[in-house]
Amino acid sequence: LGPTVVIGEILVEIMAKSRGDGFLEPIELIGPYPSGAPAIFIDQCAKIGGSAAIVASVGDDDFGRINIERLRSDGADISAISVSPDYPTGSAFVRYRDDGSRDFVYNIGKSAAALVSLTAEAKALFARAGHLHVMGTAFAIPGVWEIMDHAIDAIKQRGGSVSLDPNLRKELLGLGQTQERFARLVDVADLILPSGDELFTAAGVDGESAAVAALFSRGVTEIALKRGEHGSTFFGVDGSRVDCPAFKVTEVDPTGAGDCFGGAYVACRRLGMPVSKALEYANAAGAHNVTVQGPMEGAASRPQLDEFIAVTPRNLP
Ligand code: ADP
Repeated sequence: LGPTVVIGEILVEIMAKSRGDGFLEPIELIGPYPSGAPAIFIDQCAKIGGSAAIVASVGDDDFGRINIERLRSDGADISAISVSPDYPTGSAFVRYRDDGSRDFVYNIGKSAAALVSLTAEAKALFARAGHLHVMGTAFAIPGVWEIMDHAIDAIKQRGGSVSLDPNLRKELLGLGQTQERFARLVDVADLILPSGDELFTAAGVDGESAAVAALFSRGVTEIALKRGEHGSTFFGVDGSRVDCPAFKVTEVDPTGAGDCFGGAYVACRRLGMPVSKALEYANAAGAHNVTVQGPMEGAASRPQLDEFIAVTPRNLP
């Protein structure tokens, strides 16, 4: 029916080599690495063999070019990435604390990432797209709503489908019309991919079975719940449930696991795989990603994931 399309931020990530608190004194950094949740999602989607495209904006600089080159060489359609002559590519600096939490310094709101708009190239893409994937991280970009509304109408009109990864910062829900817009996205979504408590945020109800029932009553037909090192669980509107254990790996860098999980799950389902196979690939994509430093560096091709699945033990449920 046409490619899977995602809308949102393309960034570079620059990371501190040492753990510690913040960026208050000079420290050694590594990067830039291609990043941005939608970029990681679509890169994984393309690498697994799904037809995949992104609507985004970068600066006319090396940070933008490394992203475009990575996505292009991994097989994503980059025709709707616009290049801004005036603003630099967005960036995120990250430092891990000793307890595993992270400190970030973001430059997104005043970067090229915030300039994403409904260009002629984006419209042409939506006119042939088969699936829209929406990510909560993009809600911070004001211009994203106009594009999303257009995309939903165009894709639904063609009989396409919509998925939602509600990975939004809760503070954002209090801003302007975000709450209403988020609720509308839940209403149009066929598939929801929450991580942990995001299931309750998406449903507006606490408790796993109540939240699942609430989402199904609003038209959702599939839920793929991400549970970190506990794996993932699928809930189907027909009452089915599939639990898939995580792979046993040593986590080096947790950034991007959920995005790779989503990219792999959506691509596999759209390629016609059954839920159990799609969940296994998605768990493998998430687990493989955390073993490699850099947010997008661990995105893996289908042969790489087949090899990973063959040799990696599972965590006990
Ligand atoms: P998010 O990044 O959105 O919070 P998760 O942390 O749940 O999402 O990661 C997504 C998926 O990646 C998980 O469902 C799991 O399959 C895999 N994964 C993530 N972290 C690990 C880990 N430490 N060990 C094994 N698998 C992991």
